[in-house]
Amino acid sequence: MEIRIKKIEPEKMKLKPLDESKLGFGKIFTDHMFTAKYHVDRGWHDAVIEPYRALSLDPTSMCLHYGQEIFEGMKAYRGKNDAIFLFRPDENIKRMNVSAERMCMAGIDAAMFMDALKKLILLEKDWIPRGIGTSLYIRPTMIATEKALGVHPANEYLFFIVVGPVGAYYPEGFNPTKMYVSEEYVRSVRGGTGNCKAAGNYAASLYASRIANEMGYTQVLWLDAIEMKYVEEVGTSNVFFVIGDELITPPLGGTILPGVTRDSVIQLARSWGIPVNERPISIDDVLSAQADGSLKEAFASGTAAIVSPIGQFFYKGKASVINGGKVGALTEKLYNEILQIQYGEKEDPFGWRVKVTD
Ligand SMILES: *Cc1c(COP(=O)(O)O)cnc(C)c1O
Repeated sequence: MEIRIKKIEPEKMKLKPLDESKLGFGKIFTDHMFTAKYHVDRGWHDAVIEPYRALSLDPTSMCLHYGQEIFEGMKAYRGKNDAIFLFRPDENIKRMNVSAERMCMAGIDAAMFMDALKKLILLEKDWIPRGIGTSLYIRPTMIATEKALGVHPANEYLFFIVVGPVGAYYPEGFNPTKMYVSEEYVRSVRGGTGNCKAAGNYAASLYASRIANEMGYTQVLWLDAIEMKYVEEVGTSNVFFVIGDELITPPLGGTILPGVTRDSVIQLARSWGIPVNERPISIDDVLSAQADGSLKEAFASGTAAIVSPIGQFFYKGKASVINGGKVGALTEKLYNEILQIQYGEKEDPFGWRVKVTD
């Protein structure tokens, strides 16, 4: 499908932020956005890159009532000589379609999605910051727009992509985070929607996050909903443990989000000869490994931070410090390796990098 491009009038262009250290995350968006409409009788149509605008929605638009809303999170990176790269974008496109299928929403044409990403990023390339660790965050989203009340899959959808510059996640270097293990609230359950980036999952997670924050913890470590025993994820990231010589992460079983970073960590670690085990691990096993000294590192993985060291767990009234609250060697090595692949500073043996060109 042809994507029309309607450029903003030059005098309406926003001022680009000058100080890259103040970008933060998710606050600034560029001059243009991509939108495409879907109707069950017409398929995808009206694909357009247009000036960034507010959406106009009927109050009965179904996304507002029944939560058919899914999204993705990815980044474009500026390398040497102004080369622009995406990191494994096919994986995000595939995952968005898994989310769409589970939420009974329209499947997105992968070629249209990729074309939209490339054209929008190229049009907005002056917005991509330069500092290492900074990037252009990309938020593809789909919402049900059919005007109707009554619980059923909508017949109409809007797919849009907005992008905006974001700062380095670690402007002052790695900072180990403190995790609150939720004993009462769960993020997802077997047979639920935990493997989708569906808006409702995040709404459901806020209450436990607020409790964690009030207790002075950065994020929640989620346990499985059935036995309240097995570790699932931390906040909106996947989780890894280095116990003895082994790297362990919970298996994908429908309750956790299949992170692109998670998969990249697994492939890289295996290529370095590290035994990686995707297996259920209970919080008791984590804490006994902490007690006997075999738990060497714990970290979270996700697009926002790549990997983020975990310095402490709080469970059943007791805090357990990991690796003396210091960043582990493997955590740091994985961070540097993935960062350098993303920015085109290192060889890309897995073919993860996609150069964005005209
Ligand atoms: C997005 C997300 C992740 C990380 O996925 P990446 O593809 O690595 O960014 C992990 N868990 C949850 C719940 C998420 O929403």
